Amino acid sequence: MAHAYLLVGPPHVGKMTLAISIAQALNCLQGPGEPCGECSQCARISQGQHADVRIVGIGPSQEDGPTRTVIGIADVKEVLKQVYLNPYEGRRSVVIFDGAESMSEEAANALLKTLEEPPDQVTILLLTTNEDYLLSTIRSRCRCLTLLPAPKEEMVGRLVSEHDVEPATAENLARLSRGCYGWVFGALKEDQVLQDRESALARMLEICQSGLDTRFNYASELATMFGRDREGVRQILYLWLRWWRDLLLMQEGNGEFVHHTDRSAELEMHRNGLTTIQIVAFVKLVHKTLEALDYNASPRLALEILMLNLPIAGVKV
Ligand SMILES: [Zn+2]
Repeated sequence: MAHAYLLVGPPHVGKMTLAISIAQALNCLQGPGEPCGECSQCARISQGQHADVRIVGIGPSQEDGPTRTVIGIADVKEVLKQVYLNPYEGRRSVVIFDGAESMSEEAANALLKTLEEPPDQVTILLLTTNEDYLLSTIRSRCRCLTLLPAPKEEMVGRLVSEHDVEPATAENLARLSRGCYGWVFGALKEDQVLQDRESALARMLEICQSGLDTRFNYASELATMFGRDREGVRQILYLWLRWWRDLLLMQEGNGEFVHHTDRSAELEMHRNGLTTIQIVAFVKLVHKTLEALDYNASPRLALEILMLNLPIAGVKV
């Protein structure tokens, strides 16, 4: 085992699941190898109660405070101080940095010192969706594991045989999840995920057909939401991206690759009023907006620009 790993992959692909499995494997009472998942060590780790397995991350705050968007130096120092002590109840300490790309520069430099001379009894796991945002000095000190989305056929097969999902539903989930099991299990657990997607999609179609007033209200709504739930806004923009990708595929006569197969009539109607140039330009702009939000641009401004440049459906220019 290396002292530090970098787990890279899209959201919900299974980075945290793998990180927890590694922490279990390192501490499992049944010895090295695949963790048993049942001994007291494995159980305490999966319940998040193990004293030597620590997760540092970002995400929505408790109650209604602002979203934690940065892993700061205080967080890193606090957790690193503890790994220099001997493990308390297990064999090895494991520190998981979830969203490692969100580490402040100071925090990253503090972590770098530990990565340069790691204490024997600790394993550090960095989870990220985008390794380009990490200091190259940090990347070079970690062993990198890239997690790829599962092939669709494999996912459908497993959902049907291991999770009793109806074949048609499995097919639909596999397509929508883009190969990410975490998303599928979330969706299976609560219909809410699918319902939210439906209503976000309906809202998007409505916005595409409405005037500037409505669009600006929508931009302002998303900007407010961004203050408390960054990831939520990102997911909505990814939904836009996927829809517009489908429009482009339809436009270019590659309808068999679209994601929203259950909405092909709407796609057909929507793309009829658009040119390929308009679609490509808008897809690029959504990417640019996502990037601007990552770099802390004013969310209201970035989203208003996006709405200003949204081609009006039904008018062929
Ligand atoms: Zn075990």
